[in-house]
Amino acid sequence: MNSVFSGLPTTVFETMSRLAREHDAVNLGQGFPDDPGPEDVRRKAAEAVLTGWNQYPPMMGLPELRQAIAAHYRRFQGLDLDPDRETMVTSGATEAIAGALMALIEPGDEVVLFQPLYDAYLPLVLRAGGVPRFVQLRPPHWRFTAADLAAAFSDRTRVVLFNNPLNPAGVVYGREDLALLAEFCVRHDAIAVCDEVWEHVVFDGLKHIPMIALPGMRERTVKIGSAGKIFSLTGWKVGLVAAAPPLMAVLSKAHQFLTFTTPPNLQAAVAFGLMKDDAYFSAMSAGFQRSRDRLVTGLRDLGLGVLSSSGTYFVNVDIGALGEGDDVAFCERLVREVGVAAIPVSAFYAKDAVRTVARFCFAKTDQTIDRALERLAKLEK
Ligand code: GLN
Repeated sequence: MNSVFSGLPTTVFETMSRLAREHDAVNLGQGFPDDPGPEDVRRKAAEAVLTGWNQYPPMMGLPELRQAIAAHYRRFQGLDLDPDRETMVTSGATEAIAGALMALIEPGDEVVLFQPLYDAYLPLVLRAGGVPRFVQLRPPHWRFTAADLAAAFSDRTRVVLFNNPLNPAGVVYGREDLALLAEFCVRHDAIAVCDEVWEHVVFDGLKHIPMIALPGMRERTVKIGSAGKIFSLTGWKVGLVAAAPPLMAVLSKAHQFLTFTTPPNLQAAVAFGLMKDDAYFSAMSAGFQRSRDRLVTGLRDLGLGVLSSSGTYFVNVDIGALGEGDDVAFCERLVREVGVAAIPVSAFYAKDAVRTVARFCFAKTDQTIDRALERLAKLEK
């Protein structure tokens, strides 16, 4: 058996969701919204399965969806993408990331990763033969410096895998951070694989800046988005990929032998959804921002140290001063004794883990948030 996978535990999200069910806990662990998602988009998917085409759609995605991807990113991010040569639909962002790593890395190539990192990244890099080089990000700001990048990049760097906005930190990296990273990508002739699935889930008037728009990055960026995150439909697994034609040519080869296609009814519904009015997208992020504020205010009222969150579904609590042990011990006690599930942020580190932070998901109804806060009040005693 392959040692990368045979040695892996079940994902922390599955484990915490299982514990939450066992202990009848309020689940603020695994990140998924309580909201059922826009009804018109779901209706399109239902109609398309009944009246539409259910055989293999084109390998690169339905033409209407590829056009919608280009139009959507033009409207929201000012990008100029050729739908035929520069867009592709995958079965979720994770497929797009796996495919990009398989397509771009030769065994022995170095891959720059930022910790905390999404749990799928490292196994996929290793399985593709990549050699990880980590940039360590620390609370409360989770920012990187030129010295951090200089220590991680080398003349063997092939790929940088970068998540912005960053799960679990809730950071939205702005133009200055991106320009610094772009400078290193250009200098080392590296390709940026950018997991931008939270691009629409940003708060406080911030605007997501896609890495592909930075000077020097147009030809060396793989931009990855997710309909699941854009429409609060995390089970749909429809990934949106954009890259310049020479990159796309090889990305498509990986995709054709990974999943080949993605259910056509979901693609049709996502094409419809991407063309919705600006009002849908601003209401979606405003709704999550309200939920963030509700949870943050409640946690602060309980005397907990809350770190700032400008995007994603998550907010972090600094548990260092609570005297509850490390984050894993804290989250175990929380789910078993207090009845609230959270995610220990050390699970997002491959080494030198930060063990003083727990992640809470606020993409929940007011009622769920309030129920969690009532239970968390027990922590103080
Ligand atoms: N993206 C989700 C999170 O961060 C988890 C997805 C999963 O369970 N694999 O919570």
